[in-house]
Amino acid sequence: MTGACAGLDLPGLLACRRCPRLVEGMRQLKPKPPWTRDDYWSRPVPGFGDPGARVCLVGLAPGAHGANRSGRPFTGDGAGDFMYPLLHRAGFASRPDAVSLEDGLELADLYITNAVKCLPPGNKPVAREFANCRPWLEQELEQLENLQVLIALGGDAFRNLLQYYRSRGLITRLTDYPFGHGVVYRFGNAPILVGSYHTSRYNIQTGRLTESMFMQLLDQVRRLVAASG
Ligand code: SF4
Repeated sequence: MTGACAGLDLPGLLACRRCPRLVEGMRQLKPKPPWTRDDYWSRPVPGFGDPGARVCLVGLAPGAHGANRSGRPFTGDGAGDFMYPLLHRAGFASRPDAVSLEDGLELADLYITNAVKCLPPGNKPVAREFANCRPWLEQELEQLENLQVLIALGGDAFRNLLQYYRSRGLITRLTDYPFGHGVVYRFGNAPILVGSYHTSRYNIQTGRLTESMFMQLLDQVRRLVAASG
C-alpha cells in the first residue's frame, strides 16, 4: 500500500481553545478503567491519512474513550471497530483495525477527520462549536489537492459540510440537500458530497447500518472517483 498516516499542516490546532465548554468537558471527563487520565489525549484531534487522497471521510467529533483517548479519529472505539475492517477490505486502509497512534495503520487515497476536533459533551456540539471549528476543517480540505469525494458520516457532519459549500457560494439553502445514506450531490467543480449513516455502535446494533450497506457505499465512492478521472 502506498498510503500514509501523516496529518496535514495545521499550525496551532493542538493549542486551540476556541470552545471553552469543550475544553472544560475534556478536562472533567472520567477515564474509563483500566485507563487513567494520563492515557488520554484530551486535546483537539487532527485528521490523518494520505495527503494525496481523492476521498475524505468526515465524522462528527472524537469519541470520549476512542479518539479523545488515542489522539486519532475512530481509533479505539466501536465506530472504528466497525469501519476499519471494511476500509481495509475496500483497499483504503493498510490494516483492519485501529488501536493506537503507534499501530502502523496507513490510509491510501483516503483522509479521515472530524467536523469538530474536540470531544463534545453528550456527543452533541452546539452550532457555535461547529462554526468555531469549521476553519480547521476548511484548512484540511484546502490542503487535499486531489480531493474529489467527501463522505459525510452522519447527518450533523453532512450539514456541517453543506455550510462549507454555502460559504463558498456553491449553495444557498441547506434544506435543498436532504441527508440520507448513499445520497450524492454535485456542486460544480467542488468535491462531490456523499452521505453515509454514522458507523456508531447504536446504528450498528439497531441494524440501521450494516456491513454490506457500508461496503456498497465505499464501492459507490470508488466508482465516483473513477468517473471523475
Ligand atoms: S472544537 Fe475546534 S475550534 Fe473548538 S477548541 Fe477544539 S479545535 Fe478549537
